[in-house]
Amino acid sequence: MRKHIVAGNWKMNNGLIQTESLIAELKQQSKTSDAEVMIAPTFTNLWHAFQSTKQTEIEVIAQNMHFAENGAYTGEISAGMLSSLGIKTVILGHSERRAYFNETDESLAKKVDAALANNMRIIFCFGEELADRKAGNEESVVGDQIKNALFHLDPDAFTHIVLAYEPVWAIGTGETASPEQAQDMHAFIRKTLADKYGAEVADSVSILYGGSVKPNNAKEIFSKPDVDGGLIGGASLKAEDFYAIVNAF
Ligand code: PGA
Repeated sequence: MRKHIVAGNWKMNNGLIQTESLIAELKQQSKTSDAEVMIAPTFTNLWHAFQSTKQTEIEVIAQNMHFAENGAYTGEISAGMLSSLGIKTVILGHSERRAYFNETDESLAKKVDAALANNMRIIFCFGEELADRKAGNEESVVGDQIKNALFHLDPDAFTHIVLAYEPVWAIGTGETASPEQAQDMHAFIRKTLADKYGAEVADSVSILYGGSVKPNNAKEIFSKPDVDGGLIGGASLKAEDFYAIVNAF
């Protein structure tokens, strides 16, 4: 059985006080589904969020990290530093990181290796842009993003990998992939994995959908057989909305 996961990507939102109050509100919600719940606050709030969610169902995860272990990389944070806080999961390859911070398949492959070397779990994000989909190239774009960053790994590594399909045209736009579009792409992703690593590995990897998931569309998207959860941006900033999505399984 694959894990169901709902992860909230807070992006560059919430200072310390807002982090405290959102976590207090999250703790008042009740989970009625089997989904694992994660939140990704900014680096500056990780320690506080980690401490205040101890003994709850909420796992605090990081939004990004650098590939180097340490050294002269002003402003950066390593996997070892995240691990030293007790953080066990990191989001890598979000389309905003790719678009605004020049992350490439090549640098992401290094980040993946660094996270795995620190025994961390990775939520690896990828997805096509609108022009790719209009040209009918969405599968080749997504296939290449996965192959270039992940296909140097041994099959065992996939016990630490969660995939997140996030079509760029659906992120923060209010535009969602239809449940059928999500299912088609997730099935393609699973087949891509199966072709390289076999059905057992492919069937064990959770594939999340991200892009304008809201309380009113989560149930239908999550009902698709190859959709194992969601990576939630905007709607993760309101406790009630986020838990409505968590409970959509
Ligand atoms: P959104 O963001 O839910 O606000 O579209 C999703 C994401 O970027 O992970």
